[in-house]
Amino acid sequence: MKRLNPSQMWEATLGSLELQVSRPSYATWLKDTVGLSFNDNRMVVGAPSPFVAQWLERRMSSLIEAALSQVAGLPTTVQFQVMTQMTSHTSPREEPQALAAQLPQSSNGHSSQNGGQNGTRAFRLNPKYTLDSFVVGQSNQLAYAAAVAVSSRSGTAYNPLFLYGGVGLGKTHLLHGIGHASASRGLNYLYVSSEQFTNEFITSIQMKRTGEFREKYRSVDVLLMDDIQFMRGKEAIQEGFFHTFNDLHNSNRQIVIACDRPSSALVPLEDRLRSRFQWGLSADIQLPDLETRKAILEVKAAAMGVGVPDEVLDLISENFLSSIRDLEGALNRVCAYSDLTAQTLDLDLAYLSLGDLLTMKQKQVPPPETVISQVCSFYGVENQALVSKRRDKKVTSARQVAIYLLRECTQMSLKDIGSVVGNRDHTTVRHAWAKIFKEKITDKSLKAQLESISARIEEQTPS
Ligand code: ADP
Ligand code: MG
Repeated sequence: MKRLNPSQMWEATLGSLELQVSRPSYATWLKDTVGLSFNDNRMVVGAPSPFVAQWLERRMSSLIEAALSQVAGLPTTVQFQVMTQMTSHTSPREEPQALAAQLPQSSNGHSSQNGGQNGTRAFRLNPKYTLDSFVVGQSNQLAYAAAVAVSSRSGTAYNPLFLYGGVGLGKTHLLHGIGHASASRGLNYLYVSSEQFTNEFITSIQMKRTGEFREKYRSVDVLLMDDIQFMRGKEAIQEGFFHTFNDLHNSNRQIVIACDRPSSALVPLEDRLRSRFQWGLSADIQLPDLETRKAILEVKAAAMGVGVPDEVLDLISENFLSSIRDLEGALNRVCAYSDLTAQTLDLDLAYLSLGDLLTMKQKQVPPPETVISQVCSFYGVENQALVSKRRDKKVTSARQVAIYLLRECTQMSLKDIGSVVGNRDHTTVRHAWAKIFKEKITDKSLKAQLESISARIEEQTPS
């Protein structure tokens, strides 16, 4: 095989990393990096800013080194370098084009390696996507149970297994999980997206290597085909897949297919292909509920080795509803922010770092007067006293609770909260909030008080 230059090597590594990390973290950290040099088994990678370089170095270097070593075919280390304005505008911008210009020639001259390369790339599974790391909740339990069943009784349980669900809900994770489990039973699996399948199929026809193509697909015990919706409307490809499918099915090889919609919605996917899918089991993955979302975040935070306060997990799981990928992206963002600014990961920091991503809860925001009057009536304190200078214990603690709840229930700034509780400055407000925040963790009775006041506030707030 022709030796790859550093830029090509890095491009290939990025291709593999893209399969392994979440979309937001790929876009945030990896997308704008370039391969600068490769000497003595060390790759120097240019990053667009010191932030990015530092993050990659601290959080991703082992993942990157593993991917790089596979591409290089030998153990390889990585070093990050911040690109100066000059280089980031000249060579890195030109290199991808130069690379693209070279591609047709190199694929002519090295067609078999090219096919082989696609093949090896297709085999790569994300080591983190295992059945064990998959959090099971109501929304995905059927899909999970089916995945476990086909992993232990390959080819005989449900064949094909057809998994469907919206974007970012765990289909690819389950396919990889089945791949890992199959591999550990000594089975020969092949994970491929229908895009890759399509490319290989077309290349095999162009290169007159259809025999090789068929052989490759027929020789697997478990075929994991991701994102089959890409085959819609491509009849020749569907035809190719139909034959592959029949070959495998007839010899009791397991087929698992993932799709972002139910097979009945795959019109115009050839009828006979669709009817084949009905032979097996269709399992859908639905939107996860709040508990499942939080459990997933807990697992991800633990896997990153970061202690994330419960409050922050709540904030994220309450606000990111539509995809687990986004949920994870939000967690990554909060952790990155805390890491890079060397600030404690707390609720403040989470709000700050998520900023515009937070779709404020649909719940109506209560006016501050409601919060204050509910706190006062709960503790039997006059409204006047709460906003006065009085500092006796009863009034002070009611005031602190009011501040805490104003912070939790409204979107007011510390400064604005200060002004509605008798023109107090924002450090006093922050101190009061933090005090209640801490106390409620250990003081069960305080926690219960806060909950019942919150419920009253909610009752008083028109929706
Ligand atoms: P899809 O293929 O359905 O678009 P993915 O499998 O790529 O979604 O999942 C997106 C991200 O969410 C991945 O990082 C995956 O690990 C994570 N994820 C999805 N569902 C779960 C789950 N039940 N438990 C743990 N992680 C999950
Ligand atoms: Mg997927």
